[in-house]
Amino acid sequence: MNPQAAHAGAILTVNLDAIRGNYRLLRQQAGKAACAAAVKANAYGLGADKVGPALAAEGCRHFFVAHLDEGIALRPHLPATADIFVLHGAPPGTERELIAHGLTPVLNSLQQIAAWHALAQTLQRPLPAIFQVDTGMSRMGLPAAEAEAWLANPAFMESIPPLFLMSHLACAEHQGHPMNASQLARFLAWRQRLPQIAASLANSSGIFLGPDYQFDLVRPGAALYGIAPVAGAANPLQPVVALHGRIIQSRTIQRGDHVGYGISYSASEERQIATVGVGYADGWLRSMSNRGIAFIDGQPAPMVGTVSMDSITIDVTGIAAERVQAGATVELIGPQRPLDDVARLAGSIGYEILTDLGRRYHREYIGG
Ligand SMILES: *Cc1c(COP(=O)(O)O)cnc(C)c1O
Repeated sequence: MNPQAAHAGAILTVNLDAIRGNYRLLRQQAGKAACAAAVKANAYGLGADKVGPALAAEGCRHFFVAHLDEGIALRPHLPATADIFVLHGAPPGTERELIAHGLTPVLNSLQQIAAWHALAQTLQRPLPAIFQVDTGMSRMGLPAAEAEAWLANPAFMESIPPLFLMSHLACAEHQGHPMNASQLARFLAWRQRLPQIAASLANSSGIFLGPDYQFDLVRPGAALYGIAPVAGAANPLQPVVALHGRIIQSRTIQRGDHVGYGISYSASEERQIATVGVGYADGWLRSMSNRGIAFIDGQPAPMVGTVSMDSITIDVTGIAAERVQAGATVELIGPQRPLDDVARLAGSIGYEILTDLGRRYHREYIGG
């Protein structure tokens, strides 16, 4: 084991080859549509500086970040031919920053359109952008009245050539949800008014709603990182992350002894308890207290007691002593503990578990 890994309370392994494999599968699933990558929130916590180049090597040319600063940080790690789209658009007054860093905004409001238009006037050249229309999520994108105002002004069309007409699905992981068809219908209505403009609707789950939802560009994030795209169905994607926590110490406790803050666990018989150096400060959610299972050599070790800031306690009764001594590692996420199962037990979703992954973990990257 390398020295940095030996220092750390846990080791996070990110398999870049698996991300590339998932990209290939999604691109194939997306048929004739081009396949972008959502790498916002530091590529869902996995490191945009590593994930971006790996996807670029796989042929990805469209990248989505949420914030301007994420785009600025990502730019040097991607080929100049790759587009970086900023989902939130430019915060008022920062429009020139996008140009300076080779970033393209997603325009979500009439105010953003007007500011981008003004910059195009000043620079005396067209400034292409993506236009997002709201089709029912009421979160981002032009409300109907603002979209009408955009279409009613030919000057906007001239100064801001639309690269894509875009919207975002609210319920795509539930394939039978009526919201999917409703949003598709609203999107198609806007698209009919702009038939010459390329279109993009699907996130990871949207790709699996079929060809009607794929249009010209799909925008997966979660599925690239191994999160299951279809609720209640087998996951066709490869797992990308593994998390191994390190045991700090082990002890024997007797019937009636307690464990952890608030003594939320008490032993009903003699048990062997190991303390592992991962806690809620590392994104191991406190809702995992007395829930979940670690694995040691294929044997389950249930979480007992409350999750602390820097540690958790697990029941290792019956597991060979040399496997639970100080320095040994336990699987918290991996082949025996799929990410989505961990998320479910935490009352959360894989997205949140990934984006919360601790900055104290030693990170190892496979492939790329
Ligand atoms: C995050 C995001 C995506 C990617 O969504 P996943 O569910 O992770 O595939 C695509 N489009 C927009 C607008 C997003 O905000």
